[in-house]
Amino acid sequence: MTYDLIVVGSGAAGLAGAIKAGRDGKKVLLLEKLSQIATKLKATGGGRCNLSNTLDNTSFMQSFGKNGRFMTTALNKMDHNDLMNFFKSIDLETHIPDGFRIFPVTHSSTTVINALTNELKKLDVEILCEQRVEEIITKNSKITSIKTQNNIYNTKNILLATGGMGYPKMGATGDGFPIVESLGHKVTKLYPAMMPLSTKETWQGNCRADTISKVTIKVNIPNNNKLKKLTAKGDLIFTSTGLRGPVILDFAREITPFLDKYKEVPILVNLTHGMNEDQIIKAIKEKSTKEPSKNIVEILSSLVPTSLAKELCKICSIDISKNYKNIQGEAKNKLIKLLAWTPFTISGHDGFNKAMITRGGISLKEINPNTMESKIIKGLYFAGEIIDIDGPCGGYNLQWSFSSGFLAGELLVNL
Ligand SMILES: Cc1cc2nc3c(=O)[nH]c(=O)nc-3n(C[C@H](O)[C@H](O)[C@H](O)COP(=O)(O)OP(=O)(O)OC[C@H]3O[C@@H](n4cnc5c(N)ncnc54)[C@H](O)[C@@H]3O)c2cc1C
Repeated sequence: MTYDLIVVGSGAAGLAGAIKAGRDGKKVLLLEKLSQIATKLKATGGGRCNLSNTLDNTSFMQSFGKNGRFMTTALNKMDHNDLMNFFKSIDLETHIPDGFRIFPVTHSSTTVINALTNELKKLDVEILCEQRVEEIITKNSKITSIKTQNNIYNTKNILLATGGMGYPKMGATGDGFPIVESLGHKVTKLYPAMMPLSTKETWQGNCRADTISKVTIKVNIPNNNKLKKLTAKGDLIFTSTGLRGPVILDFAREITPFLDKYKEVPILVNLTHGMNEDQIIKAIKEKSTKEPSKNIVEILSSLVPTSLAKELCKICSIDISKNYKNIQGEAKNKLIKLLAWTPFTISGHDGFNKAMITRGGISLKEINPNTMESKIIKGLYFAGEIIDIDGPCGGYNLQWSFSSGFLAGELLVNL
């Protein structure tokens, strides 16, 4: 038996590629090393599956940084509207509850996987689990077959969609990288991205219960223009060892390469909805005038959670039973400065174990963006996170995986 296409990996990218080729009447085999398909897809969006978002293609690509334009053809073939229509065609309705992020109406990733599985069955795509691909066999730079731990399958076309290295227990452990390197492809340096960050400070562990909204983060290294540009905005949660929450996921994506280089990165965090020192002083004075009997923590609680107000006063050696007007000189200045920009020092992270995505991957220079085919090996296609493309939090990475998978599944070149 020779397959038209063998897809390796049953994540969003592999499933999309298998469905597209199946819809085009191709004989497709899907190989997955775990005992079931789509393990990571099941965990996405906290089990709710944030499939995409409503950005237009230009803004969407810009959000991915300098590599974003590589996605042009893939997104032109399948943007978020096409993705919603695709899911509709397999009986899964989607919606946009906050006007930006796209979810299945069920808010259940299981229903997404069921819909995709039914479509694969309808198209007679053969699925074999517990098949760990170890080698792609080629002759004269063309594919002849693929080898798993206990089998060899014949094909001229392979879609390698083995993902990155984040959350390895969900299947993606970087298997695809040595396979492509052995075929002459370059893999850029890989970094864990989108995960909680550890800090040198530990005081924030006393403020774990509260989510702080509309936080701004910036890097605090003077005279480093590249790092100075790194900022992030969003919701923040404190942990006993550091910082987490959506703003940290996006910030971590940018900061990990620098953390690798500098070992520690000082940052400043605005925890007062973007207020500057003058605005903070004005707000505190107004509140204290209106409610003169309230102590400093009670006054600050209109700006930040009470637990945080207490900790910031502690850092400034301020007696929390005092009124604002009774706090003097340096302590008062320090408190206002801290409220405007609270310093932390990022000192580490949990690596790939808790990284939602991987930064880096197969070099874009060696992939045709119009087909997703390798420029080195005929018939070898790539899609999803295995490629050197990563986006922020908010449906970006799944849209890219689906779009690139569909494009690769077209097999424009070889059939
Ligand atoms: C907890 C979590 C939540 C997330 N939430 C979101 C979200 O809501 N929205 C969003 O856009 N993105 C989200 N992401 C990111 C997103 O899930 C990934 O970017 C995307 O799933 C990548 O898809 P993929 O198909 O490229 O790879 P994967 O989904 O990682 O699939 C790769 C597959 O290949 C298999 N495989 C690996 N090696 C081999 C081998 N040698 N042989 C055979 N099979 C192999 C793996 O077992 C796996 O099933 C989240 C990530 C995580 C970890």
